[in-house]
Amino acid sequence: MAAQRVGEVAKATKQTSRVRVAVRLRPYMEKQDDKGEGACVRGLDSQTLEIINWRNATETLQYQFDAFHDERATQQEVFLSSVKPILPHILNGQNASVFAYGPTGAGKTHTMLGVPELPGVIPRAVREVFNLVKNKGKQEDAWDYSISMSYLEIYNEKVLDLLCPSAQDLPIREDKDRNILIPGLTNTPLTSFSDFHAQFLPASLNRTTASTKLNQRSSRSHAILLIKVVRTQRAAQQRVQTGKLYLVDLAGSEDNRRTGNKGIRLKESGAINLSLFTLSKVVDALSTGGSGTARVPYRDSKLTRLLQDSLGGSAHSVMITNIAPEYTYYFDTYTALNFAAKSKQVVNKPFVRETVTVPSTQVKRSREEPEAGGSGEP
Ligand code: ADP
Ligand code: MG
Repeated sequence: MAAQRVGEVAKATKQTSRVRVAVRLRPYMEKQDDKGEGACVRGLDSQTLEIINWRNATETLQYQFDAFHDERATQQEVFLSSVKPILPHILNGQNASVFAYGPTGAGKTHTMLGVPELPGVIPRAVREVFNLVKNKGKQEDAWDYSISMSYLEIYNEKVLDLLCPSAQDLPIREDKDRNILIPGLTNTPLTSFSDFHAQFLPASLNRTTASTKLNQRSSRSHAILLIKVVRTQRAAQQRVQTGKLYLVDLAGSEDNRRTGNKGIRLKESGAINLSLFTLSKVVDALSTGGSGTARVPYRDSKLTRLLQDSLGGSAHSVMITNIAPEYTYYFDTYTALNFAAKSKQVVNKPFVRETVTVPSTQVKRSREEPEAGGSGEP
């Protein structure tokens, strides 16, 4: 049987090319809300949330997604619902990608990496890939599997190897079968989950430490973990298939917009993160189902070029949009939701947090004036 070409698969399974979108709302954090205004966004059901309408506080805006994870959602629930179902495909030579999108402080790193007590998508996914391979072995599968990882960062449109930090900006290439590759990128074989843990954690901690020193670098760069599963057919060793899984902690989406408060148009802002901006165009193009891959602007940025064979087409892609409930984040949340939403609806109904309904004309003022005893300006 001839090797499957990316183009053919894309045609055959066009309906799968849409990116699945989940939204996760992190818990309300007192210290993120110096005015003590409470939450401006809340969940309604497993697909829907509402946010107060800043144009008219007597209305809320309701948004629908493929999945909505509210502030009580556990790391395990997010993994089971949004990530685990796509993992078996990478053992069959298919590609997949999982992104965490959203403003800085909304929970992207918590979702992807988590903390030792509450591990996130990355450790859970890698553990699951090892489990899947182990189970294949038990089923007397006809293939031998090997797992490896690469870890890189895209910062200022430079591709940097995080497993070999002295490296220069690496080139992105495409082979004749339309696979995307980075010659020179470190590719470390992994023998077990604990092997992964031992190799990845120091690298990810290095990045965090360096980031703090470099002032916000982590919120301006995309951290990309690549897990590669290569399988070789035992009876015919020349038959080799590679499946790739990209796990991406994206740059903060607030880099993209100076719009909200200052009204500067996206295009006019000189400091936008080109890769993040292009990613939103690519996801848009994929979800509106354009005709084939021709119009999807993968080549306009490093991130989308790198992910071209693992985002859309025959690949399985999930974007987890992280949002924060505090008013401080309102415009970042609003922008992120408008990008992520499958549908939006304006609902004539006040966003009631208290038992007393404030007349609409007073809502704006009452938000600006802290209640007596509140923490107003000193
Ligand atoms: P980002 O990576 O998007 O900038 P972080 O993941 O660093 O955001 O999250 C910001 C803060 O909120 C961190 O202190 C993190 O521990 C906390 N946090 C985020 N999401 C959750 C959650 N679902 N549950 C509890 N704490 C969370
Ligand atoms: Mg982060």
